[in-house]
Amino acid sequence: MTGPTERSGKGRLLLVDDDPVAGGMLALMLKKHGYAVQLAQSGEACLACVETFSPELILLDIEMPGGIDGYEACRRLKADPVFQDIPVIFVTGHDNPAAETRGLKVGAVDFISKPANPAVVRARVNTHLTLKRQADLLRSQAFIDGLTSIPNRRQFDASLENEWRVCRRSRSSLALCLLDIDHFKQFNDANGHQAGDACLQAVARVLKAGVGRPRDVVARFGGEEFVCLLPDTDLAGAKAKAEELKQAVQELDIAQISSGSATMVTVSIGVAALTPDAEARPDQLLGAADERLYAAKRDGRNLVRCAELNRP
Ligand code: GH3
Ligand code: MG
Ligand code: MG
Ligand code: MG
Repeated sequence: MTGPTERSGKGRLLLVDDDPVAGGMLALMLKKHGYAVQLAQSGEACLACVETFSPELILLDIEMPGGIDGYEACRRLKADPVFQDIPVIFVTGHDNPAAETRGLKVGAVDFISKPANPAVVRARVNTHLTLKRQADLLRSQAFIDGLTSIPNRRQFDASLENEWRVCRRSRSSLALCLLDIDHFKQFNDANGHQAGDACLQAVARVLKAGVGRPRDVVARFGGEEFVCLLPDTDLAGAKAKAEELKQAVQELDIAQISSGSATMVTVSIGVAALTPDAEARPDQLLGAADERLYAAKRDGRNLVRCAELNRP
């Protein structure tokens, strides 16, 4: 996944060339044809730019001064789960099969020789943007949970990885709420699996409605477990949100039969927050929220329990 990519005109292109004249002319031509173009003049600048510009496609020069040439920049992008789906086209003066083979081996989708012919560049850019968008569409369908129509575990894993980096860069707190429906096996046993499925759909709807910032993610974590990822949110904020969500589920007013007496369907929530740094790993955040969720279950259910990981 490449994170949120705003469609800008015909597409967002990152053009990398250490030669300002060649790069500039190509950029001008592509802008004239409706593309949003960002120029970078080194491998290092290319890697920095993908994080801020979210390109849909990269046109990459091979020979560039500095430690990172085009091959190396491409190899690093393809090794990174966040950026590996951005197609890379090499635009280069190396007009020989060995250079081309090496480029394709490090993950490029295509190869254009310099001096680049504008019509050829536009045609190839257009082809690979179309393919990329079709692939994105298929991927996005593979990232949605079939029952509840909210993001699934795979999407959550990708979002966590992505937001981890963003919060690490901005030194802001990343919070996570892990929710589990209480006594859901009993609910299924008493009401049947179809009612169980409808209950999961209702809970998903209420969670989605309750978590509103653009970067927040609500996903089905698995079975009767849900997860909310809350970027730029500290523990106090996440705790308040978790209490709201807990209340909102209860207010759905779905009857639950428990040891003969009728109650409402409820959730237990484990909350954790940390500011990502070089030492911490996303698994730690998840593990802490999971541990707190078990504490909420132990303490009687329909509860929120919290852990802050790296406050002095
Ligand atoms: P606890 O309060 O400790 O969480 O108890 P629980 O019964 O909710 O937990 P347990 O893990 O024992 O059972 C989870 C149940 O969730 C088991 C399964 O029947 C139900 N479940 C999981 N996925 C689905 C689903 O897709 N549809 C339905 N209807 N039920 C599901
Ligand atoms: Mg060059
Ligand atoms: Mg469970
Ligand atoms: Mg449960």
